[in-house]
Amino acid sequence: MYEKATCEFVVRAPDHYQVVSNGLLREETDYDDGTRLTHWKQSVPISPWLYVLGVARFAVQQVDDFDSKPIQTWVYAQDREAGFYDFAVPTKQVMEFYSEYVGPFSYEKLANVTSPATGGGMEAATAIMYGENSVTGERSERWRNVIIHEIAHQWFGNAVTEADWDDVWLSEGFATYFTQLFIEHAYGRDEFVDGMKSAADRVFSQYEDDPAYRIVHDNLDDMRRVTSGATYQKGAWILHMLRKRMGDEAFWGGIRGYYATHFNQSATTDDFIKAMEVASGLDLEMFAEQWLYDGGNPHLSGWWEYDPASRTVNLEINQVQQVGGLFDFPLEVGIYFEGERRPRLIEIISVTNRFHRFVVPVNEEPVDVRLDPDTWALFQADFGRRELEQQLSN
Ligand SMILES: [Zn+2]
Repeated sequence: MYEKATCEFVVRAPDHYQVVSNGLLREETDYDDGTRLTHWKQSVPISPWLYVLGVARFAVQQVDDFDSKPIQTWVYAQDREAGFYDFAVPTKQVMEFYSEYVGPFSYEKLANVTSPATGGGMEAATAIMYGENSVTGERSERWRNVIIHEIAHQWFGNAVTEADWDDVWLSEGFATYFTQLFIEHAYGRDEFVDGMKSAADRVFSQYEDDPAYRIVHDNLDDMRRVTSGATYQKGAWILHMLRKRMGDEAFWGGIRGYYATHFNQSATTDDFIKAMEVASGLDLEMFAEQWLYDGGNPHLSGWWEYDPASRTVNLEINQVQQVGGLFDFPLEVGIYFEGERRPRLIEIISVTNRFHRFVVPVNEEPVDVRLDPDTWALFQADFGRRELEQQLSN
């Protein structure tokens, strides 16, 4: 458990340097010997791994403010023009979204800072660090998504902190999914769905190397296994499936309740699941067990066929994963007809056993049957049409 604390940095450095740290600037005093004293104070308690101190020839821009709190860009002086352009967006819009949907921004400012301390992003509280190659002058989509991710951490990971590293998905899975939720809100459903599909691909390639990896784990004696990519992408997918299971209204209600209860404190996975149970009235124990505490992922194998005699679509769907137990989850099956972009029928089937057969009455021959047409479930599948078996040959 992290003890959260306020912090202060007082630095005396050559006066051609600027100094950035957590919280608000309290004092700058120039001395006759060419040094400057800089005093920063963070008055909202944070975990010690979120402390930060940067000293460089920075160009500093007051970009905007949010809720009377400054939004700043700190880039190397030689990157001034490109860096100010890159970091001008979308920080404020992202802060507005999480404030409205999750809860209040906890801190006194938000600065985006370039640094040699990381290759990607590091979510230090109120002064986020980005790798030196983050300044491109092109507002690249990759770096835009890193900015959104690190701002999401100011809510999840920083204001509400995982109680220990075994629960790190509460930080990384959340930042990954809340990045996608902002994308869905700001840039549309198609980009969101593309993001979730590529996250699923990454989950399956990670699980090829480590098929039994559990999201809530017990790895404190081997820190290399703590922040596996799975805690990011599979963590995000678990939130996505939970949203589908609960419905949007209860999902956001649960998120707001969890955030408010543990604001500026720590939380465990159990705390989170309880908050979501309270918001939905659902028993989520089995959901948590199979997705968070057990390893493996569903792998489905099956086929569909159309039987003109009975006017039915017959389906077989089997769970064939080698690692982990059988999963129990609802799966949407879309049935498509000639000339229609959307499935006319969506059947919800319950995948629980190893073998399943389903029969769906239809009025005419479909052109396609697809599992999970709206991208709500995490699974791999080998699934397609097979020709109707000869039943009248004798
Ligand atoms: Zn992160």
